[in-house]
Amino acid sequence: MKDENTQINLKLYYGTVSVVIALMLLGLLAGNPLLHHPGLGYITHGVLVFLFSSSLLIYPLYKSHTLRIIIIVTASCYFYTIFFLYPDTWSNFIFLCFIPAISILYFDTKLFHLSLLLNTLSIISLFSYIAIVDRGNHYSYISEDLIGNSINFLGSQAIIYFIFYLSSSRLEKQKLYYEQIKHSERLKTTGQLAAAVAHEIRNPLTVVKGFLQVYEKDNSYNETNKRHFSLMINELDTAEQVISQFLSIAKPDKDTEMELVNVKNVLQSVTDLLNTYGLLHHNEIVLKVDEDCFIAANTIEFKQLLINIIKNAIEASNVGDSVVVTAERKMHLVEIKVSDCGQGMSKEEMDSLGTPFYSLKSKGTGLGMMICFNIAAKYKGTIHFDSEKGRGTNVTIRFPAAKLGR
Ligand code: ADP
Ligand code: MG
Repeated sequence: MKDENTQINLKLYYGTVSVVIALMLLGLLAGNPLLHHPGLGYITHGVLVFLFSSSLLIYPLYKSHTLRIIIIVTASCYFYTIFFLYPDTWSNFIFLCFIPAISILYFDTKLFHLSLLLNTLSIISLFSYIAIVDRGNHYSYISEDLIGNSINFLGSQAIIYFIFYLSSSRLEKQKLYYEQIKHSERLKTTGQLAAAVAHEIRNPLTVVKGFLQVYEKDNSYNETNKRHFSLMINELDTAEQVISQFLSIAKPDKDTEMELVNVKNVLQSVTDLLNTYGLLHHNEIVLKVDEDCFIAANTIEFKQLLINIIKNAIEASNVGDSVVVTAERKMHLVEIKVSDCGQGMSKEEMDSLGTPFYSLKSKGTGLGMMICFNIAAKYKGTIHFDSEKGRGTNVTIRFPAAKLGR
């Protein structure tokens, strides 16, 4: 991709440079008043055309900063020389105004600023020379309206500055965009590779776990051995859970048809499922849901998101506390809130949410929130955390409301 870009740029560069060289040669040879008595001035003109053209032509071969400076300096010498050699050609003054524009070709900010500064200083010297020494003898079109010409010059520099600023900031943004695309491509490939590895690990785990389950029930082993088997099975369960959750991120497109989701129904079934889990710690889930909450998403994924967030709230809660889940329609959004009065999180802990494998739980996978953020982003939703250490956490999940009646 990069090569293609440089190739196109190179074509454009040589195209532009050829036109510039052709025009300079035309200026040197066609109707040149000095051509009748070619003296030192004409030779200087010719030498500068040669130097400027060659430095422009060899630039793509070296692309060095020094060469860029040489180009700007030769260009300045060339344009100021023709200004002095042909005083009757008033349009030469236009070129003096546009010398800094040459550095736009190279997108070199430092060079551009330097060129802008040097050119302004040169014009000040030139105007002073015309006003004090020449006194309008050769350059009456400048001396007669020195202020007007100065303002026009400043205007032209402002325009060039504006063009440079806009195009370079656009270029920067484009560079950043390409970097991001490259980065996400790399992540995708690594993710696919990791998913393949995870899948391959799951099979041997199942076999080992199966044997351990058999040994656990085998009475020829003593109690200590059996306790060890049970521990091993537990650890394998955790490993399996990590792999399953990981695979569900790596294959996000599986079974993900968009449908009209009735938030109330989904919350009800998620609550029924998790109430059994909450009962282990005597935590109750209190549900308050409006009727008209519908979103466009995949039901399985939406359930997965809610299960992860409500499960986290239960796990953070103290024994006996309830977790309150509300859902309401707010303008074009459906807002779901999950509130607990549990352990809460510090600012740093909240910043780490969604980072793969970030977990403060001894048996946590640290993948739950990453899955939630992925699902929310997929359906243009957001998840916002509001938490205070020791006080509890409020999670606000927002999704665009789906239009009914189609
Ligand atoms: P896991 O639950 O497997 O640890 P998650 O990605 O679901 O992984 O959560 C990451 C971490 O974020 C948890 O370990 C926990 O420390 C913190 N966390 C998430 N939700 C809450 C909450 N409601 N209250 C306090 N901490 C939370
Ligand atoms: Mg979790």
